Amino acid sequence: MTDHALGDVARPLRVAVIGSGPSAFYAVDALQRVGGLTVRTDVFDRLPTPFGLVRGGVAPDHQKIKSVVRVYEQIAAHPSFRFFGHVTVGRDLTVADLMQCYDCVIYAVGAESDRRLGVVGEDLLGVHSATAFVGWYNGHPDHRDHRFDLTSGRRAAVVGNGNVAMDVVRVLAQKPERLQSTDIADHALESLRQSTVREVYVLGRRGPAQAAFSPKEIEEIGHLEGVDLVVDPADMELDPVSAAHLETAGKSAQRSVRFLTEQSAKGHGANERKVWLRFCASPVELVGTDGRLSAVRVERMRLMADAGGPVKAVGTGEIDTIPVDLLFKAVGYRGQPLPGVPFDERSATIPNQEGRVLDPATNTLVPRSYVVGWAKRGPTGLIGTNSPDSKETVASLIRDLTGVRAQALPADDAECIPNLLRARGVEFVDYDDWRRLDAHEIAQGAKVGRPRVKLTTTADMLRVVRELRQR
Ligand code: NAP
Repeated sequence: MTDHALGDVARPLRVAVIGSGPSAFYAVDALQRVGGLTVRTDVFDRLPTPFGLVRGGVAPDHQKIKSVVRVYEQIAAHPSFRFFGHVTVGRDLTVADLMQCYDCVIYAVGAESDRRLGVVGEDLLGVHSATAFVGWYNGHPDHRDHRFDLTSGRRAAVVGNGNVAMDVVRVLAQKPERLQSTDIADHALESLRQSTVREVYVLGRRGPAQAAFSPKEIEEIGHLEGVDLVVDPADMELDPVSAAHLETAGKSAQRSVRFLTEQSAKGHGANERKVWLRFCASPVELVGTDGRLSAVRVERMRLMADAGGPVKAVGTGEIDTIPVDLLFKAVGYRGQPLPGVPFDERSATIPNQEGRVLDPATNTLVPRSYVVGWAKRGPTGLIGTNSPDSKETVASLIRDLTGVRAQALPADDAECIPNLLRARGVEFVDYDDWRRLDAHEIAQGAKVGRPRVKLTTTADMLRVVRELRQR
């Protein structure tokens, strides 16, 4: 049998992409743009819906950010693109199956879990992870049944001051009427309407110059109608370590500090709804009464320069107690291992060299295996950060292909995976199914003046997909 250059018209390169969030789409895009390459990409997701955190993570009052899916829709419109939704790798398909049906696999599985705080009281009622809360208000099937009692009191705390914390703060603090014209999950909107939360404490373990939020995100909270953003002027008298840090820090940190300084001059304001920013405050214990959270004990931190590294916060032993009824941990996402794929427990990522999966046990590259996005570099960066990240991985993949030859494919090769899934009784969803489901959600939204009304259980999604296929 004649062989061909892999990626030639006569022998397309077959790539499986596991996960369908931004990093997956940017990887597909990068592959589609390689000159002279003939490629077929199959994108898998364990949910019947694509787009990962754009659907399940980006806050409902950030519809403009969500509009990035228009770009992904263009990528999906390419004739070489296929989507296999409701397929779980590790359950419905093994890595060995993928290796049998594809020339290479790109893992774009993100970081679906969350970090723990590691303090006493973390399992009390009223203590939640931001991951669960975000998934809940976005109607993610994994989190839609989580219960958040927003009527247990008026004070909440959010630990961490990254952009996820900012999303949680906005959703908790703003008037719920502002959310009713978004695609927030119905159950969340209803709970937020009943919410008695009026004050949110944001606990950052380092100072304002090291805060993890983007200036745009903190400014948005400062401009929320009916909400006072309160900054203690004392926090804005920067210590020498922060002052030095700010000189070399990027424009973002400088802009945030400028904004916070202006904000600190405004006092407490007259609104009932308040967001209190606390800096150099690290939780050391979550205090419970009858198994329910009643307060958070925070230690005052001191900042220390660390040669060459980031500014560190060290405890001073000074403790303050803040009575709170709810607490959300927004201290970062954490990756989860995928059966059959190397995983580094410490960084919770797939070990790699420029996107080539590396087996740490043998320190050798795993053939035909690549990784992109948060699974590759950890849970950092904005949506757009994934574009250069995915390009780097695809460049590695293309370099590895140079000179590789492969035999012609059998005529029914494209059926390799669908046949396997059907034989295993897996009810998968293709891109046309998703487009019908998408149109259905948008049509339901149009009836009530919202961008869409989301289906929030996998069972409902599959039921609607089946019905829509019949039409
Ligand atoms: P993040 O930006 O890494 O922020 C994590 C926060 O948790 C930091 O304030 C960190 O403090 C704090 N933290 C970590 N461990 C802690 C501990 N043990 N005790 C107290 N505080 C602790 O992570 P993220 O907010 O989850 O966001 C993930 C990524 O998604 C980020 O790149 C973010 O920009 C992006 N994102 C963007 C948007 C948007 O653009 N609108 C929205 C959501 C998320 P230290 O800084 O001291 O470590």
